[in-house]
Amino acid sequence: MQVVSPRAQTIEPSEHLVQFYDADQAAWAKSVGRYLSDGLKRGEAVLVIATPEHKKAIARELNALGCDPDSYAYRGRLVFYDAAQTLAQFIVAGEPNWDRFQATVGHEIQRLRSASLNGDFRAYGEMVGVLWSAQEYAAAIRLEEYWNRLLQATKFKLFCGYPINIFNDDFNNSDVHAVVCAHTHVVPTGEDGDLREAVTRALEEVAGSDEVSGSNIIEVERLAQPTWHPNTHVPVAEAAIFGLRSHLPGQARDIIGTARLYYQNEKRFRALIENSFDAISLLDSAANITYASASTARVLGYRPYELVGRNAFELIHSDDLETVRQTLEEARTNARGPVRVRARMLAKDRQWRWVEGTFTNLIDDPDVGAIVANYRDITQQKAAEEQQLKAAEELARYNAELESFAYAATHDLREPLRTVSAFTELLVRRANSAEENEQYSKFILDSVAHMSRMLDDLLALTSVTSHAARESVDLGCAVEQATNCLEQAIRECGATITVDPLPRVLGNESQLTGLMQNLLGNAIKYRGPQPVRIEVTAEPMGNRWVVKVRDNGIGIAPAYHDQIFGLFKRLHQRSVPGTGIGLAICKKIVDGMGGRIWVESEPGKGSTFCFTAQSAPEN
Ligand code: ADP
Repeated sequence: MQVVSPRAQTIEPSEHLVQFYDADQAAWAKSVGRYLSDGLKRGEAVLVIATPEHKKAIARELNALGCDPDSYAYRGRLVFYDAAQTLAQFIVAGEPNWDRFQATVGHEIQRLRSASLNGDFRAYGEMVGVLWSAQEYAAAIRLEEYWNRLLQATKFKLFCGYPINIFNDDFNNSDVHAVVCAHTHVVPTGEDGDLREAVTRALEEVAGSDEVSGSNIIEVERLAQPTWHPNTHVPVAEAAIFGLRSHLPGQARDIIGTARLYYQNEKRFRALIENSFDAISLLDSAANITYASASTARVLGYRPYELVGRNAFELIHSDDLETVRQTLEEARTNARGPVRVRARMLAKDRQWRWVEGTFTNLIDDPDVGAIVANYRDITQQKAAEEQQLKAAEELARYNAELESFAYAATHDLREPLRTVSAFTELLVRRANSAEENEQYSKFILDSVAHMSRMLDDLLALTSVTSHAARESVDLGCAVEQATNCLEQAIRECGATITVDPLPRVLGNESQLTGLMQNLLGNAIKYRGPQPVRIEVTAEPMGNRWVVKVRDNGIGIAPAYHDQIFGLFKRLHQRSVPGTGIGLAICKKIVDGMGGRIWVESEPGKGSTFCFTAQSAPEN
């Protein structure tokens, strides 16, 4: 099979075309669609006189070619007439009447011309086809003569459709010859030389070598000579069918019958690839696209003719070029075996689509002579896969976090429990003084209270979720709420807290308040001998803010700067109350907002806790 992309035919002015469409209605719809859309795009006015079914098929085809028939009809540039009804207006006693034909069709053409943007006009008509179906052959040929008279009087283009099957016996009769002679061009029956290919193969198969040609192979061109219709341009395959009767009278039927089979196979194959879900392209060995199926439009949005002639690599994402190059190379060295590939391709809407497909090297197959690329859109599948991967990574992270959490929680909760059990044992086993009993009971109560605080803080930690809705939060308000909660502690130590103007950031209000409360609470708790001074500031950094809480407290040695954000990580024993969970909560909140938290500090020189937060968009 040799396939080339269908392209619009260029037609000279004042042409009278005919297509015998019975053997291939799909090819007919394509030719008529291209012919009409070409006229509309040039600014011409267009008249279509067709049967109701054909009117629908033509409208579909025009839509597919980007010409909305309704909008052209609204502007008066496209008019549809019913073939049988129009015909009835000028048939008198079974014959077309010239005066009436002129008064109806001729008059309509004059009227339509005024709607044309460039003064030109073209028509598609199948009134002759309607007469032909009714076996009114003479009337059809007479009507062609009338059309020719109109064409001579005023220049325009006309395309006639006949329900004649080129493979049928009666194709070669005198009436068909008269129809051909009435036209300037016969439009090829099928797409892209399919008919010629079918006739050539049938000739080789049925006739093989023949004394008529003097050579082993009879060429289609030889059958097409001498020209039967000197004033009409007839495609070589149709001309060969006309010539068969005289050149090979004994084998003509057989050859045409075989050609019909080949042609139908080709049509079936075409229908298969045109309607396939996958896009199919043929590439030469340098990756130039020699064919693209209509289904390419579904995958990448291009019409086939927009791809043919381009190099496939022009459409591949630069990150995938090497993979595709290697896969193509593998296909080149591995004839017939399909090789799988995944890559991003540039669609017509300038978006990248993930496609998955195969290259099959059929360069050595004389019927194909190309590398077949077969591919489908997997953009959605790819996005789902990426999401799954992300979810799996997140799950693994959560699991690891949960594991270390469980380990730390059991380890640290055991410690107050050990105290509780040790002193309870002392209470039970020994006869103690009231003083001792009171002391042991105090240890027990302290441990239980500590454990209860730990459990409260653990609950607070687990309730910090990264899925909390993110909104625009006034950080100044969050600090205010935090200082309100810490009022007593602030008052007791006489802390001075200065707060610079703070921005709005993206986050969750109660989480941000909790974060500030933890940082300010620690700044008070880990104070030094001097009066407590705390400053809260914010500095812009791109579309983020770096928020800082600076204190003049005891400071932290650099070796512990990372550790302190871990669960139960404390640098102090019971002397300073605490559970070692506060900074873990802070980290979880900042992580959930997509930010980072760290400390800058040296022992005795105070600490500055910093975190980043995304600026809230201004409304
Ligand atoms: P907690 O305060 O309950 O012990 P945190 O998780 O809030 O737990 O803090 C962990 C540790 O980090 C504290 O035990 C303390 O040693 C140290 N730390 C936190 N904030 C400060 C600060 N502002 N100055 C000095 N050390 C601090």
